[in-house]
Amino acid sequence: LSGDGESLSSSDREVEKALRPLSFDDFTGQYKILENLKIFVSAAKKRGESLDHVLLHGPPGLGKTTLSNIIANELESNIKITSGPVLDKPSDLAGLLTNLEDGDVLFIDEIHRLNPVVEEYLYSAMEDFRIDIMLDSGPNARSVQISLNPFTLIGATTRSGLLTSPLRARFGINARLEYYDAKLLTTIVIRSASILATPIDEVAAYEIARRSRGTPRIANNLLRRTRDFAEIKGTGKITLDISKIALNALDVDENGLDEMDNRILMTIIDKFKGGPVGLSTIATACGEEAETIEEVYEPFLIQEGYLKRTSRGRMATEMAFKHLNIKPNFGAGS
Ligand code: ATP
Repeated sequence: LSGDGESLSSSDREVEKALRPLSFDDFTGQYKILENLKIFVSAAKKRGESLDHVLLHGPPGLGKTTLSNIIANELESNIKITSGPVLDKPSDLAGLLTNLEDGDVLFIDEIHRLNPVVEEYLYSAMEDFRIDIMLDSGPNARSVQISLNPFTLIGATTRSGLLTSPLRARFGINARLEYYDAKLLTTIVIRSASILATPIDEVAAYEIARRSRGTPRIANNLLRRTRDFAEIKGTGKITLDISKIALNALDVDENGLDEMDNRILMTIIDKFKGGPVGLSTIATACGEEAETIEEVYEPFLIQEGYLKRTSRGRMATEMAFKHLNIKPNFGAGS
């Protein structure tokens, strides 16, 4: 349930695919981004041009991949999907780019993790739809220019701060996806339950939604697991009682914090008197990668007011102390 989507079984993967919205009208929330994208897509179609390059950023599971597929659908174009770490050599990128048809979408997930050499090649591809490939090396070295079909690059990143400025500058459209509120997530849970043909009470959908860390992927995961509880422990219908039993069994607490969220807060409070404490120290103490804490857990804990980032490190807030039922000590977070 960490929101990284990596630990899904193959049947869960199939279900996740079925739950993916396919058009702008199917997509819930992120209205401002959607309204703008609709205009940009219509304008590009009307002019018969490729859509400007799009950068989507925000925490994992908020719909970057989903939205990219939708953009390609709405453009009536093909989409090729890859990710930064997979594009190891310039030839990997050249192979992809030269196979794109006019107006296609190339989606690069984790674009902040592109090899810098590959990234350089991307610049001219994005700007002028051409790449210069070096043939041979030493005295025989020569460069050959290859023209590409106009295409749209959609880059997704959880860490837009790590993007180099030349790359960032080449995206004409830049959108930051926000966490979803409980009401929007309730709509998503009800929609997903209906696709899964699982009856659900609205209060139960809300309960799952408000405990999903503002993230549709987590809401869908929790829905699937709650459905299992409903089928085995109940009548098949997801009621408020069943959803509470399931969420508690899954270690999602009353405020929607999961086990790792609580471990992070408890570590800062218990071992470091509420902070400030550095990220890598927290990571070691919690047995989790610093990068995962920074990308997955921290943004939500900060947004919800449990954690503060200061120049001297992370601090637990008064709300975190209250949440864990601990009285703040001298020098502890405010
Ligand atoms: P990552 O960067 O980790 O790949 P992501 O931001 O690309 O995450 P997606 O894979 O697009 O996230 O979305 C995760 C799941 O959440 C999808 O299966 C999709 O069904 C669902 N989802 C995301 N956004 C929405 C939405 N706005 N409405 C309905 N379902 C959504």
